[in-house]
Amino acid sequence: MLVLKNGLMFDGVSEDLKRGHLVIDGAKIVDVIESTSESNFENCPVLDLEGKYVTPGFIESHMHFFTNEIPEPDKRCNEVTPGGEVKENTEYYRVLRGVYSARKVLEAGFTTVFDGGGINFMDAAFKEALSVGLVNGPDYFICGKQITAGQGHFPGLGYDACGVWEMKKAVRKMLWYGADHIKLKMSAPMRMPGRNTERSEFTVPEIEAACEEAHSAGLLVSAHARGAQPIKDFIMGGGDRIVHGTGIDDEGIEMMLNKGLYLYPTIMSPYYMVSDLVKSIKPLSAVKSYEKKGREHFDSVKRAYEAGVKIAFATDSGGMDHFPGDNAKEMLYMKEMGMSNLYILRSATSEAAKALGISDSVGLLKKGYRANIVVLDENPFEKIETALDVKMVIHAGKVVKSIIPTIQLNCNTL
Ligand SMILES: [Zn+2]
Repeated sequence: MLVLKNGLMFDGVSEDLKRGHLVIDGAKIVDVIESTSESNFENCPVLDLEGKYVTPGFIESHMHFFTNEIPEPDKRCNEVTPGGEVKENTEYYRVLRGVYSARKVLEAGFTTVFDGGGINFMDAAFKEALSVGLVNGPDYFICGKQITAGQGHFPGLGYDACGVWEMKKAVRKMLWYGADHIKLKMSAPMRMPGRNTERSEFTVPEIEAACEEAHSAGLLVSAHARGAQPIKDFIMGGGDRIVHGTGIDDEGIEMMLNKGLYLYPTIMSPYYMVSDLVKSIKPLSAVKSYEKKGREHFDSVKRAYEAGVKIAFATDSGGMDHFPGDNAKEMLYMKEMGMSNLYILRSATSEAAKALGISDSVGLLKKGYRANIVVLDENPFEKIETALDVKMVIHAGKVVKSIIPTIQLNCNTL
């Protein structure tokens, strides 16, 4: 047993903070006691939060543990030669990047992560390694490879399929590797000059075949979609979740609203203000294209949000220029878009859990729920920026980070 006492709790939904205590046993919350008075807890460790703010662990609906288009540029010869040849040891480097990503993301308060595409099924191996404690990281859900019509954004990320039967076969392959969800790539990579992201990479019958196979196994299907038509085709084919949503039109928004579908907005992928790092590495034409696409992306997500499309927190971290551990930066962009702090917090907890189909076990501070908990210094309803600097993280009932001085001492004794 472990007790967190004297916290101000956001339960994942409610607009009121509740003062009280959380009781944890093993990996679960076994009691939430609303109380303004001191309670006596005997025979178990008690951590006094002294009025700090408590939220459910944050949920990342879409990121990538193993990829990074712009790794440490001055050291890049570790995986790619200066001439661009991918070296044969590159996959070891990627696995180690996964170890780093998992730790950074967990320490940033993200206790649940859905990976939107691993490399050569290393996500499946990584999930198993996490589950037996070989590495530390959040609860981790995978899709295997992205199902693609012509290779993916990174080496080893895409699994090509053409036609109805190959789509079924591709989904079965992901199921064989233990996929928790299925990911289709509906649009060409936007940063490949000359490719048309407005064109659907799969036909509606192909999408239907993938969805039928995935749904029969109880899995949701999401799609990388950056164009009005790919979004609409994917929804017509029975797809469940839209990742990015760049270029969505009014008809697409209407379809999402009618079906109650969630959007994974990834506002930071790409954000319209291109960083100095990208400017220093990419050609000017690419930088200009990111700025233009970033603006289009921001406007698309804003229109969808303002029309009432449901939003589940997602960053696409591990893509270009957004790094594991910086996930909560997305909250600042959501705020810029006009979302309230309460909306953002729900989106990163209870709403993301609903979108991902795991709302019976995470996303709330509630009896019986997984003890995934974040402690913040300041009131996140008033200042969302505090979520970028989490003070304590509890994952599955274990304190995995604490930079609260009085609690660090206790941590060692747990
Ligand atoms: Zn992605």
